[in-house]
Amino acid sequence: MKNYDAIIVGGGIIGLATGFYLSKFGKKVLVIEKRYPGAGSTGRCIGGIRQQFSTSGTIQLARESLNLFKELEKEFGFSVEFYQGGYLLLAHTEEQKSIFLKNIEIQKSFGINVEFISAEDIKKQFPYVNTEGLLGGAFSPEDGQAFPFLVLKGFIKGITKNGGEILTETEVSSLIEQNGKIEGVKLSDGKIINSEIVINAAGPWAKELSETVDIELPFAPERHEAFITVKIKKFEPIIPMLVDYRKDGCYFNQRINGQIIGCYTPVPNYPGKSTKETFEFLYEMSRRTARLVPTLEKVHVLRQWAGSYTMTPDGNPVIDKTEIEGYFVAGGMSGHGFMLGPATGKLLASLIAEDKFYINMSEFSLKRKFQSKELLK
Ligand SMILES: Cc1cc2nc3c(=O)[nH]c(=O)nc-3n(C[C@H](O)[C@H](O)[C@H](O)COP(=O)(O)OP(=O)(O)OC[C@H]3O[C@@H](n4cnc5c(N)ncnc54)[C@H](O)[C@@H]3O)c2cc1C
Repeated sequence: MKNYDAIIVGGGIIGLATGFYLSKFGKKVLVIEKRYPGAGSTGRCIGGIRQQFSTSGTIQLARESLNLFKELEKEFGFSVEFYQGGYLLLAHTEEQKSIFLKNIEIQKSFGINVEFISAEDIKKQFPYVNTEGLLGGAFSPEDGQAFPFLVLKGFIKGITKNGGEILTETEVSSLIEQNGKIEGVKLSDGKIINSEIVINAAGPWAKELSETVDIELPFAPERHEAFITVKIKKFEPIIPMLVDYRKDGCYFNQRINGQIIGCYTPVPNYPGKSTKETFEFLYEMSRRTARLVPTLEKVHVLRQWAGSYTMTPDGNPVIDKTEIEGYFVAGGMSGHGFMLGPATGKLLASLIAEDKFYINMSEFSLKRKFQSKELLK
């Protein structure tokens, strides 16, 4: 029987980033994935990366992640299609505008490059945006995008190069605990693999997995749909992630290969792990996209799909140890697990390897009260 310093359940961005940074600490890791890497939410996300958050913890975590994204090409030896085309959050109401102005003050106090720009300036800078009814927007030119599957590929290569292993098509049926300490995992074929450290990075399935050792996680998956168009000529400048906060809003950007990719948050929400896609989304997403950038009206949609946002009551992740010694959780990533993934993995790795977080992570503690609310979804 092989000895592993850590077993990670889940081959999404969180599990693989954690495995990668742990392996850089010299730890021998085993990642166990029930299907294939990216089969969960990560392979279904649209790859947006931003630092515009509303609390000190999320802003710092996002800033750390952005810095890590910048290094990935050098770290992996190939491009992950990281591109800083910006995020433009649109205010169509005075209330939204004042939320942005308040957040910008906090963001600037952490050194984030972000400004509120008027509707006239938006028209000048991004002439393709329909500014009817628009009061302006919060713009950070440093936000951007990357291609999720290339990021996963890099982490996988790094883990194996550093002596770690990845088991695919292998399901963990339960965690094993004895006298308040984690001992390993049991697979669905009955096999047991031991380790003194187990990390639950099972995304939408993390809650059920944790129940096998009686640790409650406040996670609730919701269905979110997305679409992608055929490649079109690149806009000048490339369409940043336009986030329309109206009730029937949406968010989309142009990928660096020319495709338009986007989603919207359904109102009311659609609880559960269903990944069934709907015609309603296809119709509505097309309408909302063309309303914001009218020249996109005739662009063909290539495909649509659905995945999960694993929500917590305050819309922010849990990245923490648990009452069971050696059992760690990184989940409830809500709508920002891809962008926060590299920093989540690196911080969790430092907690496990060095028994400390190198930034204040109290906002992500499992024992927090979940009273506040992340304002920038
Ligand atoms: C449509 C859509 C758009 C999104 N857009 C963005 C975006 O632009 N930017 C952003 O930051 N985030 C975005 N997100 C959110 C993001 O995708 C998630 O927050 C992130 O992928 C969560 O990563 P994860 O590793 O926690 O979970 P997952 O990627 O779901 O990984 C968990 C893995 O665990 C495996 N697993 C589960 N249970 C077991 C078990 N018992 N045994 C073995 N393996 C198991 C699963 O198969 C899965 O592969 C979007 C999500 C959706 C659905």
